[in-house]
Amino acid sequence: MRVGGLNRASVVFTAEPRRGALWARRKHAKKALAKALRRKAPPRKFWGERLTLRSLVWDSPCFLRGLRASVVKTAPLVVASLIMAGCARAPQGGADPGLAAEIGRIRAIDNHAHPVRWVSAGEKPDRGFDALPVESMEPESDPVALRPGSPAVQEAHRALYGGQTKAQVMAARGAQYPAWVLDQMGVETMLANRVEMGNSIEPPLFRWVPYADALIFPLDNAQLAARTPDRRGFFALEDQLRAHYLEAVGLRQIPGTLAEYLSRVVTPTLERQKQGGALAEKFEAAYLRSLAFDPVDQAAAARIYGQFAGRAAPGEAEYKPLQDYLFRYIAAECGRLGMAVHLHTMAGAGGYFDVSGANPLNLESVLNDSSLRKTPFVMLHGGWPFIREIAALLEKPNAYLDFSQQSLMLPPATLAGNLREWLELNPEKVMFATDAYPYSDEMGWEESGWIAARNGREALALALTAMLRDGEITRTRASQLARMVLRENARGLYGL
Ligand SMILES: [Zn+2]
Repeated sequence: MRVGGLNRASVVFTAEPRRGALWARRKHAKKALAKALRRKAPPRKFWGERLTLRSLVWDSPCFLRGLRASVVKTAPLVVASLIMAGCARAPQGGADPGLAAEIGRIRAIDNHAHPVRWVSAGEKPDRGFDALPVESMEPESDPVALRPGSPAVQEAHRALYGGQTKAQVMAARGAQYPAWVLDQMGVETMLANRVEMGNSIEPPLFRWVPYADALIFPLDNAQLAARTPDRRGFFALEDQLRAHYLEAVGLRQIPGTLAEYLSRVVTPTLERQKQGGALAEKFEAAYLRSLAFDPVDQAAAARIYGQFAGRAAPGEAEYKPLQDYLFRYIAAECGRLGMAVHLHTMAGAGGYFDVSGANPLNLESVLNDSSLRKTPFVMLHGGWPFIREIAALLEKPNAYLDFSQQSLMLPPATLAGNLREWLELNPEKVMFATDAYPYSDEMGWEESGWIAARNGREALALALTAMLRDGEITRTRASQLARMVLRENARGLYGL
């Protein structure tokens, strides 16, 4: 598929360069991959990889959820037992079978995913999720679940295609193939995070979530791009996407003043996307800068814009207040237009990713901004590894989270522990999601979506069973919570 008039690189940007980097190496150049993997040896510690006490302690997600490094160094045995106690938040005997079966039957709303359009023979493939600029991304250590040859992928293949190949099933299903995939995942509605919608990825099954990052970086981004090798690639793609947005409002370059930029570019772009069916605007800002969007008055932002628009590239510090202002302006516009704001809040977009900058606590001043209370903020991927920080933020009336990507990357028992912490506090703010994504030929959006949907349901069943067995909730409440997480919370938020 072609995504409207976008060139290939614009499309690539929206396909989340992180995964592109991980997988296009495999997809397009197995030899290059092998070489890249060899370069990475010896592999960095990652959970499940080197099972020493030290790695258990340092790499355990339970550890990440709360143990202090000083204790670790002085009393390893005590710490090891604490880890075991922490992990036992999931029930020993597995999930309650009746509850698990019930959860398996609930048709879900997937809060965040990247479905791929079906195209007929001879038509260009949907490039929306290709990721060619991997040449510019440096090697990183992939999590175990995302490595080639994962057993879960084989399971997904068997479950989805039986004795047939993926290509045979796609050919047989035709344009109904994406809808059929949703059916296999037990998903009724999928929020599709894409540049544009199109044939076979359409409402009512698929609902649109476009991207807004390009709008908060309107100036020459050369200095930001120079920060890391990966950001060089990201910003080139941002610039191309913004050029597309400008073209759509009949401009070739940004206007001379901030007021004009807001009225002629930003607001019309958001309104066009709303009219196109968008439920939310997605920010991948955490790939590009910190999530600390400070309050900035319009006069100060206008001065920066006026000083640099069409001229020199500002440095990070002098540019940031303008970005901050634009983010809050867009968030307010989303509230006015009845759209939510989706934010990538999770470690990960390459080996140079600023993990501390992606800590959802950085969003606190935005969530405390009384002028933005009409805007729902959905923190995608559950803030991992900042599980408790994000839990505390759920007390803000307009803060929500989904557990996409965690449902693919973490084993269900680990995710169940995270889920339980949230469900015990603000269960109406927690939403099911997969982050289904075309990682490779082997793990397409179908396989990753199927695995994440299965793991997510299993984790939910484990978390609720544990709460049930500990006497925290009744069986009736467990059923109610399952429906809330899998669909009712999202229905209420987006008015579906
Ligand atoms: Zn995503």
